[in-house]
Order: sequence, then structure tokens, then C-alpha cells
Amino acid sequence: MQVPAARIVFSEADRAEIAAATAEILATGQLTLGPYTREFENAFARAHAAPFAIAVNSGTAALEIILRAVDVAGADVVLPTNTFAATAFAVQRAGGRPVFADVDPNTFALSAETVAEVLTERTKAVVVVHVGGLIPAGVSALRALCDKRGLALVEDAAHAHGSQRAGRYAGQFGVAAAFSFYPTKVITSGEGGMIVTSDDRIRDEALLYRDQGKAGFLGNVHIRQGYAWRMSEIHAVTGLVHLRRLPEFLAVRARIAARYDAAIDANPGLERPRTPPADVNNYYKYIVLPSSGVDRTSLRKELKEKHGVGLAGEVYEAPLHQQPVFESLAAGTLPVAEDVCARHICLPIHSDMTDAEADHVLTGLSGALRAQLLTG
Ligand SMILES: *Cc1c(COP(=O)(O)O)cnc(C)c1O
Repeated sequence: MQVPAARIVFSEADRAEIAAATAEILATGQLTLGPYTREFENAFARAHAAPFAIAVNSGTAALEIILRAVDVAGADVVLPTNTFAATAFAVQRAGGRPVFADVDPNTFALSAETVAEVLTERTKAVVVVHVGGLIPAGVSALRALCDKRGLALVEDAAHAHGSQRAGRYAGQFGVAAAFSFYPTKVITSGEGGMIVTSDDRIRDEALLYRDQGKAGFLGNVHIRQGYAWRMSEIHAVTGLVHLRRLPEFLAVRARIAARYDAAIDANPGLERPRTPPADVNNYYKYIVLPSSGVDRTSLRKELKEKHGVGLAGEVYEAPLHQQPVFESLAAGTLPVAEDVCARHICLPIHSDMTDAEADHVLTGLSGALRAQLLTG
């Protein structure tokens, strides 16, 4: 049996529906910012109990627009060092300076404590990343710290479609949240992103920025330096159809995660971030933290070659303060993030995964770990 690192799930019925809608979109010529975009926005807002959702053409654009609306130009913006480079790039493109912070080893995410360590007079915003789909339990304490210090809390919810913490959805903790529909994410539109907010000022700014700062779709008056951040109708209908599968995808991912949990917890050499029982993790990633001394590169190779199992990409393999492009922003060590980045692995988890596939992954994992003990 082969279990790939990722699998993108579009049922035959969904593919047919998207194909038919695409034909209609091409026939009408209404190719961008049309009825499918509005329908996708409304459905996404409803699915996250949010007042407003604004579709754009990537998660990175969604982040940059929020950061421009919050106006971080010339200011410091705190973000976790274990995030995708796009989080920091969006800060820089909005005119801010990324300040990398350490994370809580239990959630892989920022906490009030790790953020407090790096705040300066120049800090204006904090970007919390719901790493792997887990909204950190400390997010309320983080919000309280931001409120006390007059900072905007922004959610990079690229991993967290449908995730919940204490009965609240991703997107309800900060001033606004950015979601991504890149192909590997839990819901995809091919390429795309969504801004979710309850702030009508941020909604209005987002509508301006995504369409070249034009005061109206049909007008030619530009009142912001915007960009071509529009979502096409073909992407919108793809996302709309995929979004309907979210409850079913979450159920499959939760079932597989529970199967993994039982096996991981029975192995004293393995740990994992824990999702509080009442919360919803969408398991964009299933994270396992082997005790120190496991060689990830050879584990990955052994799993692939001997068991046909592809490990999913890490979150993340290297922290951003150690990436060449951010060299000038690095300010000392961030020991927890460095440790978890070096050690963790992500087991494959797909929205249509079978129990037999999960069991095959677990058998492969214990075999590969045993092989390491014998050779190490
Ligand atoms: C995927 C991702 C993004 C960027 O989303 P795109 O749609 O690829 O632009 C931003 N932040 C995080 C944490 C991501 O995983």
C-alpha cells in the first residue's frame, strides 16, 4: 500500500458541478468578482459564524490587505518564527518589520508569554498562526495582552478552516483573519484566499485594496494603492463547491486523528500537541514529536522506501529567523521553536483517508522507529 504525503479530494460529482459552472461562467463572460464570488464569500462567512468575508486571490494577499488596513507601515509586527515565509513577506510588503517570537511547545503557537518577551515601543500588531489547524488554548490571554497594549491581533488562519476554540471559530479571535485556499489546504479553490472580519471598516478597506484601490468596481477613482488581488469566478465556484465538503472532511480527519492519537499515546517515545476535548482541530497537519535523537531525514527516507508512506511537510522544517532571506531580522535564538522545528514530523492525513491507510502509516512508523534504534 502507498500513502502519499497529501491527496486533494474532489469527488466526481463535485468535478462535474465545477465543470458545468465553468462553462456557464465562460458563456456569460462574467469572469471576475461576480455572483459566485459573492456566494462563496457568504457561504464562507456563514461556515465561520462571521459577519463579513472578502475573497481574494491568495492567503498571502488576504494577510497583506489586513495588515495594510491595520496600517503597520513603519511599525513592528510580532509573528511566530515557525510559520510559512508568506506571513513575514506580507508584513514586509505592508511596510512593517517582522519580529520573530518563540512559541509554546504544547501548541506550536504564540502565547501571551512568548509575545510579551519581544514587544517594543514600535509594536503595532501581532499575527497568531493556528499551526496545523489547532487554535491555541492561550489565544484569549493573547488577545487580552494585545487589547491592554493597544495592539491589533491578526489571525493567520491559513491552516484553520472550520477549527474552533471554546465554541468560537477561527476568525473570531482577532480583528480579522486570513484563510488560504492553496491546493494542499483543507479547502481549496485552486488558488485563493479569504479575509474574515466583524469590523466593517476592515471589510471596506479590503474591498478597496483587492481591486486596485478603486472607490467602486465600475469607477476609475483610485483612493488606495491597491493591487490585482481579485478572485476569479472560476476559482470562486471551485471553492464554493469544495467548502460544502468541509463538515464531511473534518469528520474524516477527526476519525483518523483519533486513530493516530491512540497509537502515539501508547508509545512512550512519542508526544503530540493536544486538542482540548471540546475544541475542533481540522488537522490540516497531524503533528508528532519524537523524543530527541530521532534522525528525521533517515526516518522520512525509511518510511518512503520501505513502507510507501510519504510524510507531510513540516510546520515548519526551519524557523524563519534561520532562513537566509530574513538573516538581517534575526535577533538571537528562539530555543523552543528551534527544537520543535528540528524534531517534529507530520503524518499524512487526507480528507478521504481510510482506517486501513492510517493503520499502514502507523505500522510503517513503528517499523521505521525500530530500524533507527537498531542502527543508531
Ligand atoms: C499557505 C499559507 C499562507 C499563504 O497562503 P497562499 O494562499 O499560498 O498565499 C500563509 N500563511 C500560512 C501559515 C500558510 O500555511
